Amino acid sequence: MRRRNVVLGSLIVLSGLGFAWLSGTSNGRAAQFVIGGALVNLGYRMQDHLSSFDFDPHHEHGESLTPGDVWAEVQRQNRMAADVRSLFPRTPHHPLVAMVVCMDARLDTNELTGDTRKYYYVIRTAGSAIEDEEGDMLELAVANGVKLILLTTHSECAAERAAADPAQRQRYPALTRSVLERGRRLRELLARPFLAAKIQSGELLVKQLDIDTRTELLLPH
Ligand SMILES: [Zn+2]
Repeated sequence: MRRRNVVLGSLIVLSGLGFAWLSGTSNGRAAQFVIGGALVNLGYRMQDHLSSFDFDPHHEHGESLTPGDVWAEVQRQNRMAADVRSLFPRTPHHPLVAMVVCMDARLDTNELTGDTRKYYYVIRTAGSAIEDEEGDMLELAVANGVKLILLTTHSECAAERAAADPAQRQRYPALTRSVLERGRRLRELLARPFLAAKIQSGELLVKQLDIDTRTELLLPH
């Protein structure tokens, strides 16, 4: 594990030195941001198709994964990621954007924003529902300096499908209520005195958007 970390660390350091010369100018930093994004994407592409060695539900030998197997794998991968993180701590950034996004696993907010820095508060709920707690969190985020709130829904949303299906509505009444009340909750959010004053003074922008689940493109709602 340690040797692998050293090799990986050396590669990242060499890449960092290679790109360091780009940091001198604003254009250089922008170029470094794009190249960094491309490298992150390369990593995504390398991992994306892999399943048979860990999370394949049917496993190589035809055995089913147990919940314990999945938990062991999550811990193993977490330790590996934490080892890398301890070698290369991330820079804290003060978020400027707060996003509400459905919990749908097909959506990846780093990919959606093209940004792995920590400029975003991300609230993920089933069906992008905003309850009182989320309203409080968004208000706290704005109090902490957020200038833009993105309230998103997305195509092929399972929560919306459940809310529209009579059998599922009965089985998931709270989810159904949350999805059906999104419009009212949004109006309540915008009417919060603190947020309304920020919007009025031009210090806060709130956008309602749809995400194309396939491409993660933000579209007007
Ligand atoms: Zn959804």
